Amino acid sequence: MSIYANPGAEGAVMSYASRYDHFIGGEYVAPANGQYFENITPVTGKPFTEIARGTAADVDRAVDAGWKAFATWGKTSVTERSVILNKIADRMEQNLELLAVAETWENGKPVRETLAADIPLAIDHFRYFAGAIRAQEGSIGELDGDTVAYHFHEPLGVVGQIIPWNFPILMAIWKLAPALAAGNCIVLKPAEQTPASIHVLIDLIKDLLPDGVLNVVNGFGIEAGAPLAAHPRIRKIAFTGETTTGRLIMQYASENLIPVTLELGGKSPNVFFADVARQKDSYYDKALEGFTFFALNQGEVCTCPSRALVDRSIYDGFVADGLERVAKVRQGNPLDTETSIGAQASNDQLEKILSYIDIGKQGGAKLLCGGERADLGGELSGGYYVTPTVFEGTNDMRIFQEEIFGPVLALTSFDGFDEAISIANDTLYGLGAGVWSREVNTLYRAGRAIEAGRVWSNTYHQYPAHAAFGGYKQSGIGRENHKMMLDHYQQTKNLLVSYAEGPMGFF
Ligand code: NAD
Repeated sequence: MSIYANPGAEGAVMSYASRYDHFIGGEYVAPANGQYFENITPVTGKPFTEIARGTAADVDRAVDAGWKAFATWGKTSVTERSVILNKIADRMEQNLELLAVAETWENGKPVRETLAADIPLAIDHFRYFAGAIRAQEGSIGELDGDTVAYHFHEPLGVVGQIIPWNFPILMAIWKLAPALAAGNCIVLKPAEQTPASIHVLIDLIKDLLPDGVLNVVNGFGIEAGAPLAAHPRIRKIAFTGETTTGRLIMQYASENLIPVTLELGGKSPNVFFADVARQKDSYYDKALEGFTFFALNQGEVCTCPSRALVDRSIYDGFVADGLERVAKVRQGNPLDTETSIGAQASNDQLEKILSYIDIGKQGGAKLLCGGERADLGGELSGGYYVTPTVFEGTNDMRIFQEEIFGPVLALTSFDGFDEAISIANDTLYGLGAGVWSREVNTLYRAGRAIEAGRVWSNTYHQYPAHAAFGGYKQSGIGRENHKMMLDHYQQTKNLLVSYAEGPMGFF
């Protein structure tokens, strides 16, 4: 339909600043060490802005600013905070295209996704938690006729949040919305690959929040993330990223007994039972689309359905139809609204995916399609594009066991329900899964048997704010989304009050 102009070019809906500092105490603050690093767009492989390189000194300053703000913010009423969250949502909605283009340019994902999913979902998160916090109530317990236990929800204080690069704005807001709703102040560290779109968002909303409530320290994991997770004056650390990094975050936080929530990696199975192919109708067509979902967001999704398990009795026909569907996936300029697969987020990620394609070939998997870097020509030649790739093999191969985080599908067959579940669960991870069947009983039994925090039935990749999301096994600790997430950002105060007038009778 249309191609958005590159940010900064004539007719563009947005442009970036040439440099982004940290955002601390309501203002932009230069890094303590004076250093900056380049931010590169994966669309063309060229730098487009520079970013402050944070260190422990910047984190300290941000934590101080957070505590200063907490003295007031922590005492605001839920109604006041709810109104602010709704205003943030409104401001984002008024700037939907700007935010969508910013996220696409920085991450490489198609603008049709950022326009239709990433940014609208982020907006909805603010609205959901604006309502959820008002619906939350304390409780009163009568211990006996004269003694009452009151339970209140209280914010934690200043919390740290560390996020990845695959949905820069959405991953930030999954954490920001509940933390702000609950009355906390925040120090957020964006991923070093995608810090700029968060600053575009901050520029839009900074007048809506009191100074110091939301602070952003940019930088690399070891230099800025580790000092945040290990900081003695934060009251919680929430992390999304790789499982190996999650282990480190737990270690840092354990020094100060800081509670941790972790949203980590996955190797999600997408299971197609035999009755899927009973008829070639619209349901069958939907299942084929479900098979192709490994390519959504270039496979850079923690719940990417990166393993397809297909019943042997329908395998040949279903896979042939599936590959035909994959061949139609339109790869192109991420700013083109017709594009459905764009660029990988960074050169490192591109190289990691290409090396896994080699590992697949060396390990004896059969390459059914794709398997190479795509050169889209012109200014896109320097961008980081990989063609959707499907391998056939067995679940013991490395490409079936390790998270690739690219548009690479590992495909295998199974014989009957029990074998499907056994292969699905033969992984260290337990984040997402998909099950496809026309029989509700099969869906229910498979959904309950698969060890994963989110099992989609006859759908995939839907992330409503009001459905709990999180990992089993090495995919994480805690949940995001859903009002239950407020528990991770609040502590319970119990007041135990005696109204009895007589003595207690012990002494
Ligand atoms: P990553 O672990 O490399 O980095 C994530 C964040 O942690 C970045 O901000 C990074 O700077 C920081 N970091 C890295 N090392 C650190 C350290 N030693 N101390 C403190 N901070 C550190 O992950 P990534 O490559 O940015 O993201 C991809 C990963 O994220 C994948 O494994 C994916 O599955 C996972 N992910 C999970 C979810 C989920 O909800 N479960 C969502 C999105 C992404």
